[in-house]
Amino acid sequence: MEIEDALRRAQEAAAPEVGRGQLATYIPSLANVDPHQFGMAIASVDGEVHVIGDADVPFSVQSISKVFTLALVVAAEGEAIWKRVGREPSGSPFNSLLQLDQEAGRPRNPFINAGALVVTDRLQSLSGDASGTLRDLMRRESGRSSVESDPEVARSELEAGHRTYAVAHLLASYGNLESTVDEVIDQYVAQCALSMSCRELALAGLFLARDGVLSDGSQLLSPRETKRVNAVMLTCGTYDSAGEFAYRVGVPAKSGVGGGILAVIPDRGVACVWSPALGPSGSSAAGLAALDAFTTYSDWTVF
Ligand code: GLU
Repeated sequence: MEIEDALRRAQEAAAPEVGRGQLATYIPSLANVDPHQFGMAIASVDGEVHVIGDADVPFSVQSISKVFTLALVVAAEGEAIWKRVGREPSGSPFNSLLQLDQEAGRPRNPFINAGALVVTDRLQSLSGDASGTLRDLMRRESGRSSVESDPEVARSELEAGHRTYAVAHLLASYGNLESTVDEVIDQYVAQCALSMSCRELALAGLFLARDGVLSDGSQLLSPRETKRVNAVMLTCGTYDSAGEFAYRVGVPAKSGVGGGILAVIPDRGVACVWSPALGPSGSSAAGLAALDAFTTYSDWTVF
């Protein structure tokens, strides 16, 4: 099936789910988003983009940012980050403190909050400006020089961030942070508050479908490193329901509580879908239905 047709099938499959579910009200400013929006963009490895619905409306990328910070750290120093963070699915909520304490401050994987804080901490040590380094990568790869972090979303997350502070303090108590708790959290909320559309995110993630090659032809990650980042996305990228997500969609993906999901189909391209209402697994309910349909009706799949 042609991409345009598969996109239409995806939108139809998602329609009953749009607006159904919960907004991420624990970050107060995300509670104000209209839950009835839906957009999807498909970027192929040659840079061609197909879109449907609200694909040009910016939304809060939240945890989708964690893939990009991991890529930047792996690009800078290879395997070293795995001494501080694991790469197993957690089977626990993304903001859990219990597992982190039981496992002596070494987060299960880089996509739960504890692991992402360690990755951001490392990027901060390496670059001196973790969120700015991430923003610059997003600007270059998406082609939109005005990509910015939304200060209102960042402030809102900080104000309601008791659990994030608790996770960071626990990491620090085990000696698994290099910068101060406040510094790491400031960088982390700024990275999560980046505001981007489906089209921009799909373009920004293309290097993951292109063996690590950026839009200017340079190599961010080696093919082997790219394979590994994608593998961690497949097993750990969609909260504690990564198994169900892999069963239904079958490609590496990362979701965020802003309602976005970024899915990578190696050597083909990247799909980004957004609809703000979250299903019980914490991923966008309509986004999951759309990706299930898209990978079923197109030949864009790894299985
Ligand atoms: N900034 C959010 C948090 O730390 C990200 C969560 C997510 O998108 O999974 O809770």
